[in-house]
Amino acid sequence: EAAINRIAAGEVVERPASAVKELVENALDAGATRIEVAVADGGKTLIRVTDDGHGIPADELPLALSRHATSKIDGTDLLNIHSFGFRGEALPSLGAVGRLTITSRSGNEAATIAVSGSRIDPVKPAALNRGTVVELRDIFFATPARLKFMRSDRAESQAVGDVIKRLAMAEPYVGFTLRDVSGGGEGRVTFRADPETGDLFDALHGRLGRILGAEFAENALRIGADRNGLSLSGYAALPTYSRGSSVAQYLFVNGRPVRDKMLLGALRAAYSDYLSRDRHPAAVLFIECDPHLVDVNVHPAKSEVRFREPGIARGLIVSGLRHALAEAGH
Ligand code: ADP
Ligand code: MG
Repeated sequence: EAAINRIAAGEVVERPASAVKELVENALDAGATRIEVAVADGGKTLIRVTDDGHGIPADELPLALSRHATSKIDGTDLLNIHSFGFRGEALPSLGAVGRLTITSRSGNEAATIAVSGSRIDPVKPAALNRGTVVELRDIFFATPARLKFMRSDRAESQAVGDVIKRLAMAEPYVGFTLRDVSGGGEGRVTFRADPETGDLFDALHGRLGRILGAEFAENALRIGADRNGLSLSGYAALPTYSRGSSVAQYLFVNGRPVRDKMLLGALRAAYSDYLSRDRHPAAVLFIECDPHLVDVNVHPAKSEVRFREPGIARGLIVSGLRHALAEAGH
């Protein structure tokens, strides 16, 4: 079991940022409205995620650490997934590669459990006002080969920030804080986005201003289009806002951040009349569809997607964006 956990962990947890992604997604699945992430040394020595979600009952803490135990689906309809998590793999994987402590409050009771290199300690009572605190120390201490692949603290910190910004775009009503606690103590806030209000477009617009800057928000066209059961929404910047790099391209499918060549190609194609090859459009786009029309199950890290009919998704992006650009006088 310990060896299986370590092998599977290699797929789920590639670097500190992938651990942060799993932990923040768990907090979101638990209905958190505020999530605080603290990292030390790029997440190599410490990752701590604190949320105000519904918590885990003390007697379920050991279950949360066992492989393929998920409270989120019953296994009958793997495709019909509405939560971020569904594999029950993240916590056991993190417990296999680092020193993991989960402290959680459910009802009037708080408890804590620790696991290190897959050795699980017994559950103990704890003090906590609400929600869950998950602490991962010394990631990959149990798998030294992995340690060698880690990049500089700076590069790992940047990847952590990127993961949090993507999830913060997907969940504008949730507040996010990222702290660098490398020096110990309270540390230093490196990213903060308070919960947005208003309708989804307003909330997203506010959040994008916070993350991508006021200039993006001022140059952003509101996107809304539908085609064959797929819907597209979000913001795309005027061609004049284009950048020399493709960093400001964010895509989400059914609320999950994805990196997908086909979708990015469609984004580029939509702007092909306006931009030379060395300029990149900036856009934050959400595709929503029936979960049966898309497979998010391609990779454990869940950033790849496969559409039943890729042509429809591509056409939706190209026509939705071209329409908005034409309306804006382009
Ligand atoms: P999955 O998210 O795929 O279900 P995980 O290994 O990430 O699997 O988590 C296992 C289980 O632990 C979850 O199904 C959930 O019940 C519980 N859990 C994990 N993190 C939290 C959290 N922050 N708040 C409440 N419950 C949590
Ligand atoms: Mg999970």
